Amino acid sequence: MKSNIKKVTAKCCICNLDDTTPLATVRDHEYPDTTDDRFQFVQCNRCSLVYLDPRPDGSELDCIYPKNYYAFDTADSVASTGLLNVKSVSRIFEARRLKSLLSKEHPRLIETVFDIGCGDGYHLDIFKSALDGSVRTCGIEMSEKAAKSARSRGHEVECGLFEDFSTDRLMADLVFSSHVIEHVADPRLFLNKSKSLLNHDGIIVIDTPNVDGILRKLFGRHWGGWHTPRHWYLFNPRSISELATQCGLEVVRIDFLPINMYWVWGLHSVLFDRHRRLADKFFDPVGAEKSGISGIVLLAVFQVFELFLKLVTRSTSQMRIVIRPTTKFVEDVGRNT
Ligand SMILES: [Zn+2]
Repeated sequence: MKSNIKKVTAKCCICNLDDTTPLATVRDHEYPDTTDDRFQFVQCNRCSLVYLDPRPDGSELDCIYPKNYYAFDTADSVASTGLLNVKSVSRIFEARRLKSLLSKEHPRLIETVFDIGCGDGYHLDIFKSALDGSVRTCGIEMSEKAAKSARSRGHEVECGLFEDFSTDRLMADLVFSSHVIEHVADPRLFLNKSKSLLNHDGIIVIDTPNVDGILRKLFGRHWGGWHTPRHWYLFNPRSISELATQCGLEVVRIDFLPINMYWVWGLHSVLFDRHRRLADKFFDPVGAEKSGISGIVLLAVFQVFELFLKLVTRSTSQMRIVIRPTTKFVEDVGRNT
């Protein structure tokens, strides 16, 4: 475990200002062997964006993303934990949600999908089976192990950071990313690069935490969405819409999706300081998704809580955002092709 890891100061990537109110001071409890440093989340007083300030320096990525980081898990390692696991069950619901979304927001033929931070190809597999079988499925992933697993299932996946990806190599009808934009150093660059990958009529679909969800107010500094120190920017509908507008994009739809893992991470955080063994036993932040029937039951209970909160508040701690280029941008692309 490291102490005093290298950090950099941050400012609001929407306003380019540092006029903030402190929100929460949090340490890494999910992977406690990374660093025992405490980090502060602040909220921009103008646009309401929440960000980590200071945040880990880019040179510390190997420290804050350990080898057992959950997003690096491959389908093979999860499957080895049993025939029935959380991932295989959640995949059925996710496929239905995405198919329904695409039929509404992109009813035309999708020939190419690009998934930023595609992991082992979990979503690319879904797109392959949900869309026409001939769809070209591509992506970029920072874990070589996960990228290799995705390639073995027929996807074109490069290992690296999206920031370094050359966008003139392909065009996509759908640019997708699930829980990535909150991890990057420059969300504006992320959206601009996503836009430059789009074909005429293409759409961007982004999943990211909603910092305005009721769960953050209930759990406070123990909220699962902090995911410290790996979440650097946390949006709400207002701030993501403002950033999109600045990038020549517009948010056309936001769906609030349940995120039951935030209950596991939140309760683990609540117990972590005084009852760490209980926290690890009952709310294992890394293993819950792989723990077969017991994990499915635990997460099913939290799913019911999430659905109830969504019914009451009409919101959750997770947004699925559909973004399109503004009409002017579409006209410009049309003129040039
Ligand atoms: Zn701001």
